Amino acid sequence: MSSGPTSDRPSALETLRSAARAPAEYARSWKQRTGRPVLGTFCSYVPEEAVIAAGALPFRILDVPGEFGAADPRLQAYACCLARGALALGSSGGLAFLDGVIFSNTCDTMQCLSDIWSANVCGGSPGDVETFMMPIHVGHAAARDYLLAEIERLVASLGARVGTSVEPAALGRAVADCRTARVALARLLEVQQGPSPVLTPPQYYDTTMARCVLPPDEYTSSTTVVLDDPQPLDRVGPRIVIAGGPMYAPVLPDLLAELGACWVADDLCTGHRAAAPGPAPGDDPVAAIADGLLSRPQCPAKHRTGHDPGRAVVERARQAAADGVILYRLKFCDPHAFDYPRIKEALDAAGLPSLLIEVETPAGSVGQLRTRLQAFLEMLADAGVSEVCT
Ligand code: SF4
Ligand code: SF4
Repeated sequence: MSSGPTSDRPSALETLRSAARAPAEYARSWKQRTGRPVLGTFCSYVPEEAVIAAGALPFRILDVPGEFGAADPRLQAYACCLARGALALGSSGGLAFLDGVIFSNTCDTMQCLSDIWSANVCGGSPGDVETFMMPIHVGHAAARDYLLAEIERLVASLGARVGTSVEPAALGRAVADCRTARVALARLLEVQQGPSPVLTPPQYYDTTMARCVLPPDEYTSSTTVVLDDPQPLDRVGPRIVIAGGPMYAPVLPDLLAELGACWVADDLCTGHRAAAPGPAPGDDPVAAIADGLLSRPQCPAKHRTGHDPGRAVVERARQAAADGVILYRLKFCDPHAFDYPRIKEALDAAGLPSLLIEVETPAGSVGQLRTRLQAFLEMLADAGVSEVCT
């Protein structure tokens, strides 16, 4: 497992790939190497800056099993596979390397899971569970004041958890480092959606998912090396945008590459939505965190008067000159299901073909997925948008 800075493109891509494809292994080795705690998170609305300032590594829980046995007696079968898989993994000791988990009040599923987690994964000790109360209505007049107080509470609580007092200077450094990493990711995504993409679909996946586990400085150095030596792809097929929520599905980009498609942009909470840099820390890092969370492209679990999810996805697709859009959704994910009709209607009105992929387990059925992707890409090719490379 790579742990130091990399100076050439293949090594940088390998650093990103190994972190993206085996995130728990990376986190375990980081913990062993540094002797510092690892805190699990479920949502990109949890402020990573607070975790880093407390000396811990934020670890986004996404790589969950497709078997939910240990979760079934504790969580209804109509919860999304992220919640069920994580509970199964946690209940069977697969997340024992974590020193705690931070929930965010996003969807109903997550709001209920924290108590179930506390009783079943932490041996009934609520001290191992933290809940970050991110405002639901991000445009409300009271949202900013509320969020400032909540971030301050979280910072103090995490400091107490790891036995330290988090100094404002440490929080400022964490805000600056995370912002630099987001700027690096945003720059890479900007280049990728240009006329000559620089990442294959698996590399695009690895570059966004590695952001969910690598410390910001390590992430920045790897993506900067990739950006410094961009190497545009010379053969590209239909230009695809993937939109949805959390996506731990290495098989999807692998299949896109196999079928000759080019993944040029996303509207995912593991990619574009988490890449908005936010303001510089200035002399008030708490305000910088709050303003970044409130102004980033929002997910369906948040509300803002006038926000139109259909228009947002169409704009992403147009910016990237996309030929088609894949809408990726975990089964029983209500927030994304509620947005689907408006997004589909807007894509149809804009003349943008789309494919809904709803998966019951994180990876889904590979054979079925390949068949559906192949049919979609052939339909795009028949429409004359681009030639599918095989
Ligand atoms: S879709 Fe929204 S609520 Fe769900 S994990 Fe992503 S940011 Fe959080
Ligand atoms: S937003 Fe959807 S995918 Fe995320 S935890 Fe809630 S139900 Fe699951």
